[in-house]
Amino acid sequence: MNAVTVREKYRAALQASGARMTPQRGAILDAVLGTTEHRTADEILEAAQKLDSTVSRATVYRTLTLMVEIGLLRRLDLGRDFSYFDPNYVDNPNHSHLICLDCDKIIEFDDPELTACGRKIAETKGFELSASFVRLEGHCQCLKKNGSCPNRKK
Ligand SMILES: [Zn+2]
Ligand SMILES: [Zn+2]
Repeated sequence: MNAVTVREKYRAALQASGARMTPQRGAILDAVLGTTEHRTADEILEAAQKLDSTVSRATVYRTLTLMVEIGLLRRLDLGRDFSYFDPNYVDNPNHSHLICLDCDKIIEFDDPELTACGRKIAETKGFELSASFVRLEGHCQCLKKNGSCPNRKK
């Protein structure tokens, strides 16, 4: 989906929910989709405030929920007590993630064999597959190689 289409969809959804397109809501859109990184709500708040210092936490949370509802964003549950938001969902809804348990590094991947395998499993169980992505967890090289990882969670 190109940027204009995304913006139009966003504007229409805001209107439908009784909200208007404001500079703050524009900044949030840019903070979310102006990156390919998977960010938490707090990271998105920080990025949006760099674009417009008047963006509030409440508006960010409401807007993220709206964006998930209209399919511009996916909320990723990576087994943490907070969610990540995936900006690469619109263009590639079925990509999978490899996650480091030490530092929360997230690597995206696509594997047609994995998709085919998922489809086969679903068919066997009488399911019609509507989405196909997996979460692989492990430990990246950083900690193993250096004995420490700058991004390691406390
Ligand atoms: Zn992703
Ligand atoms: Zn790591």
